[in-house]
Amino acid sequence: MLARGREVLEELFPGLSAELAAEGAVYGDVVDQVLWFNHGCYLRNAPSKLLGLLLSRPMLEGGVRRRLLKLDNVRLRERCDALEPVFDRERGRVTGLRVKRHAIAEHVETMNADIVVDATGRGSQSAAWLERLGYAKPREETVRIGVGYMTRLYRRRPEQLNGKVGAIIAAYPPGWRFGAILAQEGERWTVSLGGYLGEQVPGDEAGFLEFARTLPTPEIFETIRNAEPLSPIMPYQFSANLRRHYEELSRFPEGFLAYGDALCSFNPVYGQGMTVACVEAVILRECLGAGAQGIARRFFRKASALIDIPWQIAVGSDLQHPRVQGKRSAQVRFINWYIAKLFRAAQRDDVLATRFLEVANLTQQPPALLDPRMALRVWKGNRRPIQAVRTAAAPQL
Ligand SMILES: Cc1cc2nc3c(=O)[nH]c(=O)nc-3n(C[C@H](O)[C@H](O)[C@H](O)COP(=O)(O)OP(=O)(O)OC[C@H]3O[C@@H](n4cnc5c(N)ncnc54)[C@H](O)[C@@H]3O)c2cc1C
Repeated sequence: MLARGREVLEELFPGLSAELAAEGAVYGDVVDQVLWFNHGCYLRNAPSKLLGLLLSRPMLEGGVRRRLLKLDNVRLRERCDALEPVFDRERGRVTGLRVKRHAIAEHVETMNADIVVDATGRGSQSAAWLERLGYAKPREETVRIGVGYMTRLYRRRPEQLNGKVGAIIAAYPPGWRFGAILAQEGERWTVSLGGYLGEQVPGDEAGFLEFARTLPTPEIFETIRNAEPLSPIMPYQFSANLRRHYEELSRFPEGFLAYGDALCSFNPVYGQGMTVACVEAVILRECLGAGAQGIARRFFRKASALIDIPWQIAVGSDLQHPRVQGKRSAQVRFINWYIAKLFRAAQRDDVLATRFLEVANLTQQPPALLDPRMALRVWKGNRRPIQAVRTAAAPQL
């Protein structure tokens, strides 16, 4: 969970980070306690106020659910499928939701609602449903990346990885392979290795380890080589960044909106999706404060402005890959060139390293990297040589 998402969760559920940390989640300084490697350089580690949360998805969802259910006006209906919103054609508005309970075959009930929020994720059927009702579908923007990765859990000892809680080796030319090792509750590491556009990570023990060895830095390989595996090696495929432009629609039903991944789902390697969903919760709260009439239009406009930045970060970075298709505007090319230079300077510069991670953690906007004081630091830093980086030793034959 990026720092911005954690801040918002904390605002919505005060004390949640400490509660999860007490159960074993790792609550740490994103700049100081994680190794970030990209463009052949490590970002300099330094103490910062940027605090991220490392934990498994079930633990996070369990913690949020527990706090949510303590609210007097929240009730949870479990084991149901949302079938489709109920639409009142005459009033042009949604008045409820048709729901099917898992336990009762053939039984469909209607729940009345002032507002229905589609939070069914990337596979949302809202666009098709709108079309069936005679509304226009939102324009879909996709950037195909064919990211495939394998993940495995290992037993974690705190002295491993030089006491750091994670290492993220980004994909960059010419290898385009990436890896991440992140602590989580239960004294575990979660380790993901992957590549773009059909690059396959082997699913067997020896192949997985060998792939780790070919990453540009040795930390992941050296940590897992002798670590105790706690799970099988699990595959995951992510085809494309996907954005649905609901904010462009001129007609939209009252009493209905889409949210989270149903609006936009990003390449997961940048870890942005949950943070964007959290910030959208705050936007939705503000929009509700101004009344329910016309809420979708207001929400979509603000959510779209929010999504613009992480979308630029994810798609802009993915477009560095020469085989990823999409428009490489002069701005995208300049930013990618500049970020590579920034990494080189930030090897020795904690101000630059912190500023970069503030942007990547969505607590600052990208122009903060182009501020003249930052640009000067980048220029000065590039007059010094790149620090040497170790690679993992080849196995003895
Ligand atoms: C492999 C992977 C790793 C990721 N890692 C990170 C990360 O490190 N950090 C980060 O911030 N983001 C990460 N993300 C992105 C993040 O998971 C999503 O952005 C986030 O979960 C979106 O939340 P959501 O509530 O919109 O959708 P989802 O989390 O997808 O939730 C949708 C829910 O709706 C339910 N549902 C769907 N249809 C129906 C229906 N008809 N009736 C009832 N229920 C239904 C689904 O079962 C699901 O529980 C990752 C994504 C993937 C795929």
